[in-house]
Amino acid sequence: MKRPRLIIVGAGQAAAQLIASLRADGFEGPVTLVGEEAYPPYQRPPLSKAFLKGEIGLDRVILKADSFYEEAGVELRLGRRAVAIDRDRRMLRLDSGERLGFDRLVLATGSRVRRLSCPGHDLSNIFYLRGIDDVEAIRPHLVAGARLAVIGAGYIGLEVAAVARGLGLEVTVLEAAPRVMMRVTAPQMSSFFEAVHREAGVRIACGTMVEAIEGAGRAEAVRLADGRRVEADVIIVGIGIVPAGVALAEAAGLACDNGIAVDALTRTSDPRILAIGDCTSHPSLLYGHRVRLESVQNAIGQAKTAAAHLLGRDQPYDEVPWFWSDQYALKLQIAGLNAGYDRVVLRGDPATRAFAAFYLSGGVLIAVDAVNRPPDYMLGRKAIGERARPDPERLADPDIPLKDILS
Ligand SMILES: Cc1cc2nc3c(=O)[nH]c(=O)nc-3n(C[C@H](O)[C@H](O)[C@H](O)COP(=O)(O)OP(=O)(O)OC[C@H]3O[C@@H](n4cnc5c(N)ncnc54)[C@H](O)[C@@H]3O)c2cc1C
Repeated sequence: MKRPRLIIVGAGQAAAQLIASLRADGFEGPVTLVGEEAYPPYQRPPLSKAFLKGEIGLDRVILKADSFYEEAGVELRLGRRAVAIDRDRRMLRLDSGERLGFDRLVLATGSRVRRLSCPGHDLSNIFYLRGIDDVEAIRPHLVAGARLAVIGAGYIGLEVAAVARGLGLEVTVLEAAPRVMMRVTAPQMSSFFEAVHREAGVRIACGTMVEAIEGAGRAEAVRLADGRRVEADVIIVGIGIVPAGVALAEAAGLACDNGIAVDALTRTSDPRILAIGDCTSHPSLLYGHRVRLESVQNAIGQAKTAAAHLLGRDQPYDEVPWFWSDQYALKLQIAGLNAGYDRVVLRGDPATRAFAAFYLSGGVLIAVDAVNRPPDYMLGRKAIGERARPDPERLADPDIPLKDILS
């Protein structure tokens, strides 16, 4: 087919990259982009960093100007939600009732926030952070002296805490797990970040469940299972995300497995339908099992693979995953996935606020967390892809150049 009609569902990071790669590489078919938000694709990382702080405006958050889509000949259907896929007729139904025909379909539906379900979860002044509209709703509450309770000490919760402290709020972080960022880092990293936040004046309570949000109409306090009560003027919840678009895919009979299941070429169980970004799980050749990643890199990488596939130039997706988090003046860079590690080697002294944690499994380097040490992150990422087996004793010695250890 010379000019297949392509529809992309979900106007986010992955969709923007897909369009850019397709048009740059000569895809000539008509493209329609359906997005339920009112905005053209934008980047989310600044929403818990510079944009939340007010340091940058919307123009720096939106990925491409409207003229890009005009010039690329892409029809934007924003403020529209895709509600059903008819695979036999190759039709996509929108919430407006409209039906759009396609030859190829790409699902790029991202993630949705996990919501509280405890008593009081629906009071006002409780916010989540996923989109521009969330930031706009939160901003008026970020005033010096206000009491903020952050529920969840993952990346987003801690980034919000750092921004809010910078703006002069009284911040308490509440976490059910025994330590901050437990899902993603080693205890040494958690202790370091916890100490940094406490030093900045953030109160942190780990190992305690939220039992209820108290208040009449608006949230006034968080009641914890251990009996404590944390008074708050505003509550921001960051307790994880779930892949979006799974119900849409499942209803169409597409295989799902912790997200929309795709292969290394981003094909779903129906090869005419691809899926990319947060909404997918894909086979990681590096780690030998399926993974679902929540990162800009994955959205961009899978989008490039999908574009290549749509153009008949298959290039299987198999990158070393990477991610970052900015908290205060700290840049945390993460390469690889540390699940299943049996040894952590620290390189550098956390007291200097520039150090790295290397994760090994059976002697093989599987992940690196680097704080303010970009070279450790860069070299570590490369070595993970090469399945390096560094000597742990040498790795721990910052006087031996890392390139000598990892090469
Ligand atoms: C606050 C915040 C901070 C982050 N910080 C970082 C970071 O520092 N580093 C990093 O690597 N990653 C970070 N991320 C994650 C990163 O932004 C995501 O991994 C990335 O946006 C995923 O891109 P995507 O295109 O798959 O999904 P998204 O960018 O989420 O886009 C999906 C779009 O699809 C729309 N949609 C869903 N269902 C439908 C439907 N049925 N019909 C129409 N439209 C639909 C959604 O509304 C959304 O607009 C952060 C995310 C957030 C929220």
